[in-house]
Amino acid sequence: MQNNGSLKGFLQSQMPAALEMLRQMVGINSFTGNRDGVNRLSRFTAECFAPLGFTAEFVPSTNKAWGEHLVLTRRGRSGRNIALISHLDTVFPPEEEARNNFRWQVEGDRIFGPGTHDIKGGSVMMWLVLSALRTHAPKLFEDITWKLIWNSSEECYSPDFSVLCRAHFDRQTLAALIFESEGRVGKVSQMVVARKGRGTWRVTVSGRGSHAGGKHPHGANAIVQLGQTVQRIAALTDYARGLTVNVATICGGTVLNRVPHEAVAEGEFRTFTPEAFAHAKASLLALAGRGEVRSPADGYACEVKVEMLVESRPWPRNPGTDGLFQLWKQSADELGLAVNGEERGGLSDGNLIWDAVPTLDGLGSFGDNDHCSERSADGAKLPEFVEASGFVPKAMMNVVAIRKLCGS
Ligand SMILES: [Zn+2]
Repeated sequence: MQNNGSLKGFLQSQMPAALEMLRQMVGINSFTGNRDGVNRLSRFTAECFAPLGFTAEFVPSTNKAWGEHLVLTRRGRSGRNIALISHLDTVFPPEEEARNNFRWQVEGDRIFGPGTHDIKGGSVMMWLVLSALRTHAPKLFEDITWKLIWNSSEECYSPDFSVLCRAHFDRQTLAALIFESEGRVGKVSQMVVARKGRGTWRVTVSGRGSHAGGKHPHGANAIVQLGQTVQRIAALTDYARGLTVNVATICGGTVLNRVPHEAVAEGEFRTFTPEAFAHAKASLLALAGRGEVRSPADGYACEVKVEMLVESRPWPRNPGTDGLFQLWKQSADELGLAVNGEERGGLSDGNLIWDAVPTLDGLGSFGDNDHCSERSADGAKLPEFVEASGFVPKAMMNVVAIRKLCGS
């Protein structure tokens, strides 16, 4: 590749501005439930990208408690377009940030702070990459139509974001690139090429209450039934198939002198393949119906109800994603960087869109400890951080790969 030296120099020259942008983003609390904060971050983000020629559209969430999604568009000379995906929200309420003094804090190469790694560092990476393309590949930058789409509520389930993204995709969409941060194994960067799907469920057992002293045989004990049902649920875990089932909460009963009439358990399951997902769901639903725990007096049986709460489909390995990964791998090879593909357990917006257009995730910079705000004196517990030194090489990899994607 030509000009990689000057590309590196350009990116280095942009880092002070990039880190100042990140500092200001981290300073705006954007907990999913903090609607005003998410909207403030959205406005600020639009201002950051305006000098690159992007115009903003703020799209209300279907859930009125959440902020607006953000779409920034820069129309190119051709219809060929690339979508860059990030999110605005974090998992940290303002009170938690204050309680743990969790804020922008630079220590050596590490920058601690809410969202530094998940995912405000990724949003800044988008700005770096587009700035570099404008300067170092101006023809490509002007040719492509860029669609930057931020989810206001990625950390909660927001199916309307899938609809929003798909409305912006068309036959000329070359890729959806997601800027969640990369993983690392040793010094090898990990791009995300698949993610587990997740199904959450609730099981409610209705028994028959009775006096535990006077009419014990009349009762059908809902807790005893649920105890048996959750054993069957736990047994659905099948590591060989990549299916895990977690019984996560359980409650039931009221006072000690009643045979309990109700008990409830909730949990989730996760898996990489649509087949195992469908199998787990069907197996759970099959547990519904009459239970085996009955009243000794008259045979009254407990009733087991199974509900699926939220279903986030798996993002399995697929040719579209693998094709994109190969471009990133070639680019890394040319730059002397080590990269690999990772199948990750956690969800992202990739789960919502991978089947619409070729999708690759993990384009953000490296960091760690996402979703943690606590710090212990001995350093065994450290909050979320991003590494400052990772931005330039990762941005180079992204720029070179996007050039390959566009055939330039
Ligand atoms: Zn995220």
